[in-house]
Amino acid sequence: MTLEAELRGIVGTAQVLQGGDLAAYELDWRKRWRGRARAVVRPGSTEEVAAVVRACAAHGASIVPQGGNTGLVGASVPDDSGTQVVLHLGRLNRVREIDAANLTMTVEAGCLLQAVQEAAAGKGLLFPLSLAAEGSCTIGGNLATNAGGTQVVRYGNARELCLGLEVVTADGEVWNGLSGLRKDNTGYDLRDLFIGSEGTLGIITAATLKLHPQPGTVSTALATLDWLDAAVDFLGLAQAQLGAALTGFEVMNRFSMDLVRRHFPQLQQPLPGAAWTVLLEQSSNDRPHDAAQRFEDLLALAFERGLIGDAAVAASLEHSKTMWHLRESIPLAQSLEGLNIKHDISVPISRIPAFVRAADEALERAVPGVRPVDFGHLGDGNLHYNVQAPEGESAERFLSEREAEVNRIVYDAVMAHGGSISAEHGIGLLKREELAQRKSPVALKMMRAIKQALDPKGRMNPGRVV
Ligand code: FAD
Repeated sequence: MTLEAELRGIVGTAQVLQGGDLAAYELDWRKRWRGRARAVVRPGSTEEVAAVVRACAAHGASIVPQGGNTGLVGASVPDDSGTQVVLHLGRLNRVREIDAANLTMTVEAGCLLQAVQEAAAGKGLLFPLSLAAEGSCTIGGNLATNAGGTQVVRYGNARELCLGLEVVTADGEVWNGLSGLRKDNTGYDLRDLFIGSEGTLGIITAATLKLHPQPGTVSTALATLDWLDAAVDFLGLAQAQLGAALTGFEVMNRFSMDLVRRHFPQLQQPLPGAAWTVLLEQSSNDRPHDAAQRFEDLLALAFERGLIGDAAVAASLEHSKTMWHLRESIPLAQSLEGLNIKHDISVPISRIPAFVRAADEALERAVPGVRPVDFGHLGDGNLHYNVQAPEGESAERFLSEREAEVNRIVYDAVMAHGGSISAEHGIGLLKREELAQRKSPVALKMMRAIKQALDPKGRMNPGRVV
């Protein structure tokens, strides 16, 4: 029997897609990588996923697991060989259980992140992972990439929000590790191996996630600064004054806000343009009046110390959403401006200003007029340090002719400041060569040994990561 016939027998004819327009599965979000799938398979249960994996193994076909296809490093679409099977998790979308007393929920991998947040909120609880793609990315993809987002400063990234996993291994067995335990020291941590493995070790089919109490009051503000050093001092002050109530601390450089102004003129920007803008958020269960007072006091103190210039405090939930919308519009505004050279880097927070100065200066020397779109999660040391072509230059030509040079300059500065070349987006295809050059040989040897042990035939998302 052909593989296709076997797959149809497992999931039903309607859930095996071939020929026709498969762009939604074959083209990545950035429209940078377009592959060709042998077939797209959409199983509806863990057992079906396991049977699909076994069938593919028997026919020697490799598998590309896919959730919302919002990944930014080229790891969620097939290559152009026409031999890879895309295993789409979208139909595994049930919330299996919410255990309010244990502050956990168990969900299937294809649940949209937003649906997970809403299910938790329906029980008066908070699942705090939050990112601009939350309406289309899946929790399985979030865990496979160890996604970060805007609240890492308080709640950690996807890894820290996950207590247990259910995984279909490369040979089609089901590992049920759906524990809701906060303490479990029974040997190697298998869960943490699969988190961040970008589909190269196995397929996540469900997860038990950590929940938190819903905050009663959320306060949001924008503030302008002249120097990035002031942002780091402002962050320290906010941590000291707000403690665990500090849930968001984002920075945006002038050019990133200008791009939003240019491409989304309908979005009102409450503050004038400045070298840097901070988006600050406090979430608290104190009495609303006390929480609001503490937030205002922080801003007043920061102003007194000369750290911030103008500030605007959101007067309503709607106003707060508008402020976040400004921040979250930057990725789209960039793509409307044209392709750019993306970096998702982290350096110790204390060294961020020196890193940005060094990278800006080295880039300007190499490509006069180059435009860094610099924004991100300063609260956890992660910047999206993207580089746009000089005004008026072709974005396509800039990307094709200058990418290697720009990457070298940026990553040299990252390494010189003790940082990482991938903070939250992963490695995928985009950074595979860079990883091979910049990760320690000992670490790479251990990573390859793990891959060899769990996927000896190399059929799980081949060519990605290692
Ligand atoms: P996909 O893109 O489908 O897949 C991503 C990787 O995970 C691939 O390697 C794929 O093979 C693997 N995979 C997917 N599902 C599974 C599974 N069930 N089992 C095993 N492997 C699987 N990321 C951040 O971290 N922080 C941000 O703030 C952020 N902001 C973003 C904003 C925008 C506008 C966009 C488009 C993306 C953003 N991202 C961000 C990147 C992206 O949304 C995340 O990487 C997300 O976690 C991917 O989820 P997904 O379901 O779309 O996965």
